Amino acid sequence: MLLSEIFKSIQGESTYAGLPSVFVRLAGCSLRCAWCDTPYARVPDEAVERTVDDVIKEVRKFNCNLVEITGGEPLEQAEAIELSTRLVEAGFTVLIETNGAVDVKGLDPRIVKIIDVKCPSSGHAGSFLLDNIPYITAEDEIKFVIGDREDYEYAKRFMEEFLMDRTSRILFAPVRPALEPKTLAQWILNDSLRVRFQLQLHSYIWSGERGR
Ligand code: SF4
Repeated sequence: MLLSEIFKSIQGESTYAGLPSVFVRLAGCSLRCAWCDTPYARVPDEAVERTVDDVIKEVRKFNCNLVEITGGEPLEQAEAIELSTRLVEAGFTVLIETNGAVDVKGLDPRIVKIIDVKCPSSGHAGSFLLDNIPYITAEDEIKFVIGDREDYEYAKRFMEEFLMDRTSRILFAPVRPALEPKTLAQWILNDSLRVRFQLQLHSYIWSGERGR
């Protein structure tokens, strides 16, 4: 598989935020989100070829039970399914972050999926694969990255139409610096939305430093 990087950091997003976690970042992504924070992982230029065995061996060295497979878009690589299944069978808690545009049905149900729904300001509204909806479990998390009011309204409509009976773990995060965190927080409070507001903890700690 094409690997961008493996590192240990503090989980910055999701309901696992704050916990030490190993990140396995696979390379390559077909989307080009306007605010992508890992452009180096969208293309294979700096990636290295590794086997699933190599990656599992590397993960074990970090002495950390929480592992997130991310990208790029990890599910564009067929080996991501085998990697995630083998890690969960080895006793790791496994999260996989995916952009919502790729089929998730091959994933073991013990793996927690963190699925993006791209909003209009990303440039990819409508990329979400609706066939994925039946595979969202109550343990999975759905993430909306919101850059403006249009994104916020889009996220609300999507949530109400597709997610209410799937999971209560719905994450709303502001695009920095396009949207002030307090603006998004106030919109959520005004509408009494049952969503989790989140900031990217790692970007506050390490200011977007690569490998963090
Ligand atoms: S899906 Fe993720 S990796 Fe791909 S362009 Fe968008 S933010 Fe970047």
